[in-house]
This record gives sequence, structure tokens and C-alpha cells, in this order.
Amino acid sequence: MTNIKRRETVSVKIGNVTIGSNHPIAVQSMTNTDTEDVKQTVEQVAQLHKAGSEIVRLTVNTLEAGRKIKEIKQRLWDMGVNVPIVGDFHFNGHKILAESPDCAKYLDKYRINPGNVGTGSKKDEQFSFMIEEAIKHNKPVRIGVNWGSLDQALLAQMMDANAKLAMPLEVEQVMQKALVESALQSANRAMELGLREDQICISCKVSQVQGLISVYTDLASKCKFPLHLGLTEAGMGVKGIVASTAGIANLLQMGIGDTIRVSLTPKPGESRTQEVIVAQEILQALDLRSFTPVVTACPGCGRTSSDYFQHLAEDIQAYLSEQMPVWREFYPGVETMKVAVMGCVVNGPGESKLANIGISLPGRDESPVAPVYVDGKKYVTLKGDKITQEFQLIVENYVKANYAK
Ligand code: SF4
Repeated sequence: MTNIKRRETVSVKIGNVTIGSNHPIAVQSMTNTDTEDVKQTVEQVAQLHKAGSEIVRLTVNTLEAGRKIKEIKQRLWDMGVNVPIVGDFHFNGHKILAESPDCAKYLDKYRINPGNVGTGSKKDEQFSFMIEEAIKHNKPVRIGVNWGSLDQALLAQMMDANAKLAMPLEVEQVMQKALVESALQSANRAMELGLREDQICISCKVSQVQGLISVYTDLASKCKFPLHLGLTEAGMGVKGIVASTAGIANLLQMGIGDTIRVSLTPKPGESRTQEVIVAQEILQALDLRSFTPVVTACPGCGRTSSDYFQHLAEDIQAYLSEQMPVWREFYPGVETMKVAVMGCVVNGPGESKLANIGISLPGRDESPVAPVYVDGKKYVTLKGDKITQEFQLIVENYVKANYAK
């Protein structure tokens, strides 16, 4: 596994998941259903959890949404889905928590955005009420500051102070400092009110990669709270995946980050679970966690004799993904297994020897055989039209022989 040294933090318990310190970096996601629609929300939470989301956030934007939280939680329990659910509060969170005690009780964490809890004297009053609810129900809180809803009074104050400096900072730098200041001031205020340090985690989300890295390195140097990472609006498709990976991976490599979310905009009708898969892939690529066996496949080139090896790589990946729900239970550690599927003998045998199991398909003008390596040693040479099935059987037997409880 990795030699990344994680930043030291306090540990925070969120339902049945603990984040911070050396606890596994947790994968989070957020629903996009109307929370008042219990059926759709429960289905999506269950899907996200099945895909691997360890914490699921949902918006609690209306009184009715608050009233539905108990039913959502109970239906999830009835389905055997025991995933912590987090209520995302803005503007009216204090009212919802006041009018729906079950909402306060059945949520596993509250997300509070200090930029959206009210203005003037109402701000402290409403923020304090929500924190007191968290104390009363022994719930953790994420102080979730966001670039797009930064506390305007604090920003104006910091801009004024900056303007008086001999060498004023750029506006963007002041905004980044204001994000961190808003989060830390709010966390300190929550502790003054009686919330324990181990009930607080923080996020300061922006939509640009360089800004994210600057803000979180600053934040990490100033507190011991666990940090939730993610770009606030990463975007769609490849752009969103690349931007999220660039920002999150850079911070994780520095040891910063205790829970992550990849905020992708799905295409209409596209599954919400893609953000979970991407988050897992980031953690697994950095050797921070393992979720499913890795298939190393070469990209193919002019030496590749056909697309057979692409199909084999795809089939093996699909086969491993299908088996994982069962294998995870009966073959612990199987998620660390490495399988190589290569297109010719140039790099094939070398890569195969580094994997637990590897196969090299014949390249152009090579003899039509596929050598298979197991634990670095030549095991068998496959040929004919049943290579995929025979290779799957070798993988299955390897799993049974090496990972059975
Ligand atoms: S392993 Fe062979 S087929 Fe695959 S990219 Fe390398 S040279 Fe090309």
C-alpha cells in the first residue's frame, strides 16, 4: 500500500463510519432527487450505497423534506441499507430542525453552510440554534463553506483590511483566505457553544483546481479537524472527472483529506453512481484504498493483431465487478488482486509477472498462443477460441485458493 503520510486529525464518528486520523478515507455522494419524494430518494440512496458510497448527503430544503427524513431512514433500515445520511441545510435549516425533531434525530450528520445561515444578528442566532440541536442529539456537523455562498459580511471586512495593506493581495487570494477564515470562525463558535471537537469536520469548496489546492493546504495547516474534499462544481463527463481527480489527488498525495466527494453533473438519465466509482478509482489509483481488483490492460498499438484483447480486458473487468459483491464477503483481500491483460509479448510477460495473474494475447505475426502467468511464474499457455472462459476459470480458482476466509 501507499507510503503517503496522512495529516493528523481528530476522529469524527458519522453513524457507523469514522473519519479522520488513520481511518480509511471515506467516499461520499449526494442525491439529486426531491427529498420529499421518499420512494425515489430511498432508491437512489440505496443505489449509491450499493455502488460504494459510505456516506450519502441529501438536501433538506423544505419543512416537508425534514418531516420525511424519519421515513427515509426507516425504509433504508428495512432494506438492510445502513448508510449514514447527512442533511444539507441552507437558509431555513434552523426552522426545519425546530419544527421536525425527528429530522434532527434521524439524520446522522448536519451540513451547515455559514454563508447561508442568515445575516446580521440572525446569523449567530440561527447558527447557534442548529449547533445546539447537534449537541442535543449528539450529531456531528460539517461546517461546509462554499465559494459561491461565501459569508459576504466577512468578505467585505477582509477586503477592507486588505485594501489598507502596503502590498494588498489579489481579490482571489483574499476570497480564499475568507473561505478558510469563515470555516474556522464557525468551527470555533460551534465549540464555544459546546459542540465537541470530535463532532466537527470542515470543507471549503471552490470550483477551480488550483484554488482548491491553495485553500486546503492553508486550512490543513491551521486546524486538526478532518477535512472533506471536493470541487464544488466539477462539471460534466471527462472534464469533471479530470478536474476532480487533479484537485483531490494532489491533496491526498500531501496527506490532506479524510473524506471525498466527486461532484459530477450527470447527463440526463445517467446514473448518479458514476461519482462514487470515480471517487473509488482515485483512492485506489493512489494506493490509499482497494475496492475491486485492478485490471491492467495495455492500450494496444500496431502490434495488436485484433480487438480480441480489448474484449478480453473488458470481459474480465466486468466479470470481476459482477463477482465482487459475493467475493467481498467470502474472500477478504480479493480487492487487492491485480490482473494483467496485454496485447502482445513486448510488455505482456513482464507486466503479467508483476500481477497476480496475467495473460499476453498474441500480437501481429506472433504464434497464436496466450501465455498465462500466476504469481510471477508461467502457469499455462492457452490457445483456441475459449481463451476468455479458460482465463476466467484460472482467475476464479486463484481467488478460491488464495483469499478464502
Ligand atoms: S503490449 Fe504490445 S500490443 Fe500492447 S501496447 Fe505494448 S507493444 Fe502494443
